[in-house]
Amino acid sequence: MKRPVRVLLVGAAGRMGKTIVDLAKNDPKIDIVAQCDLGDPIDPAIKKSDVAIDFSHPDAIEEICSAALQHRQPLVIGTTGHSAEQRSVIEKAAKAVPIVFASNFSVGVNALFALTHRAAEVLGREFHREIVETHHRTKKDAPSGTAKTLSEILSKARRIDDQIPIQSIREGDVVGEHTVIFAGPGERLELSHKASSREIFGRGALRAAQWVIGKPPKLYSMQDVLGL
Ligand code: NAD
Repeated sequence: MKRPVRVLLVGAAGRMGKTIVDLAKNDPKIDIVAQCDLGDPIDPAIKKSDVAIDFSHPDAIEEICSAALQHRQPLVIGTTGHSAEQRSVIEKAAKAVPIVFASNFSVGVNALFALTHRAAEVLGREFHREIVETHHRTKKDAPSGTAKTLSEILSKARRIDDQIPIQSIREGDVVGEHTVIFAGPGERLELSHKASSREIFGRGALRAAQWVIGKPPKLYSMQDVLGL
């Protein structure tokens, strides 16, 4: 039997970290061999693993990328809210190691990305576009990384760099909801995704971790992992 994939988990004490630890307990293909959280050095931990998964904070990215580059390790990055400088650290690292970087690891949201692109192409410029996203009150970034990805898809489909209005609602313990609204003369189309469990992101990240090992250096998306 093939041995399980050895994973370093960064942000292990957080909501997503705990979800991934629980999922891995029931997955014989995954072995979480190291867990890091705020203050734990990444470099010694990454040596024990085949791939690192990050669901922590944007400020961890320099240390994670530098350790991955030093030990030629693939990365799966789920953290959102990076600055332009932090994104360029990720892009530079992806020239030397394979990295899956996704604002959302759920299969449903990646289908929403594909459907949003198609709807924007079909409906054209007459339709006003808007994104509404709702998350739990303790989410640190706004708008969500998923809403930013949806906004990029809408701008690309129209081939103009225009601003798509994004409404961010923070309330209760909502795991994550995204709606893309197309409002035209006399009609309105809404595409919605509602996450009710963090497990969907964890399962996707573990799938990406197994997929990215052995791939050539590049910045991959979850759409690449799913073959969409
Ligand atoms: P959380 O606040 O519950 O957990 C974050 C954890 O990271 C905490 O334990 C914290 O102590 C730790 N941490 C903070 N700074 C760190 C550092 N420098 N080094 C190591 N650990 C550090 O948050 P969460 O809900 O688990 O989400 C974590 C991140 O994942 C957020 O950016 C969130 O937006 C993102 N997220 C992405 C997806 C996706 O599908 N891509 C899904 C859910 C959440």
